Amino acid sequence: MGLFADKYPDVPYEEKSRLWEQVKADPRFPTYLYGCYECGICVAACPSARFYDFSPRKIAQAAAREDIELIFEQMNDDVWNCSQCFSCNRCPRQNSPGGIITVLREVSVKNGLKSAKQALEGYSRIIYKIMGTGTQVSPDMLQPDAFPDWGPQVRAVSADLDVWRRALPPETLHTTSTGWQVDDKTIIELYLIWHHTGVMDMIAEVDEGLHMILNDVMEEKLEEAGYEA
Ligand code: SF4
Ligand code: SF4
Repeated sequence: MGLFADKYPDVPYEEKSRLWEQVKADPRFPTYLYGCYECGICVAACPSARFYDFSPRKIAQAAAREDIELIFEQMNDDVWNCSQCFSCNRCPRQNSPGGIITVLREVSVKNGLKSAKQALEGYSRIIYKIMGTGTQVSPDMLQPDAFPDWGPQVRAVSADLDVWRRALPPETLHTTSTGWQVDDKTIIELYLIWHHTGVMDMIAEVDEGLHMILNDVMEEKLEEAGYEA
């Protein structure tokens, strides 16, 4: 059993089936699954399989067999153990278990599943940071409560943040904000890409509060840049 083990026992079969139909309707899906030999090559190549009770072979098999119950369970648990490295793409059947997982994740986010909200909780701060400043995580964000899935490593890093900041020269490691300024034009471009590709809608599904804050931040930037409401 993984970190996000809320199995939704009361979810009716029809709802699980509806989600699976959304996965199959994704235009990428047919190129990610051609059947499965059950050879296990993907498992041997998968870094996450070494550290978690996780198997890309099981993902591909469940999808190939259209095992709705198991797929729903995987959508709420296993898919969040994948690091999306795509080492499993060396499948002799030309499957992409990592690609199947991408689609499963997207469907779970778009439908606002509780497990997706739990899995992505720590990343809200990163998204806010990117949209607010144009850059990514700063050292002071590396706290155990924000990244519980990082295990003891984040605890060790956060315990010695002052030492890390003094020891490592790059500007960004000395600050609690960011090491460089990003032009607002770049941030606006990023927002418009997220807006037009549906990423903002996905953020609204998993974190309504963050979505509102981002829209407020961007409204101001868009207005200053001369965009019309
Ligand atoms: S997905 Fe591919 S590599 Fe993995 S078990 Fe099936 S056939 Fe083998
Ligand atoms: S993409 Fe996911 S399933 Fe595939 S090898 Fe990487 S961690 Fe494993």
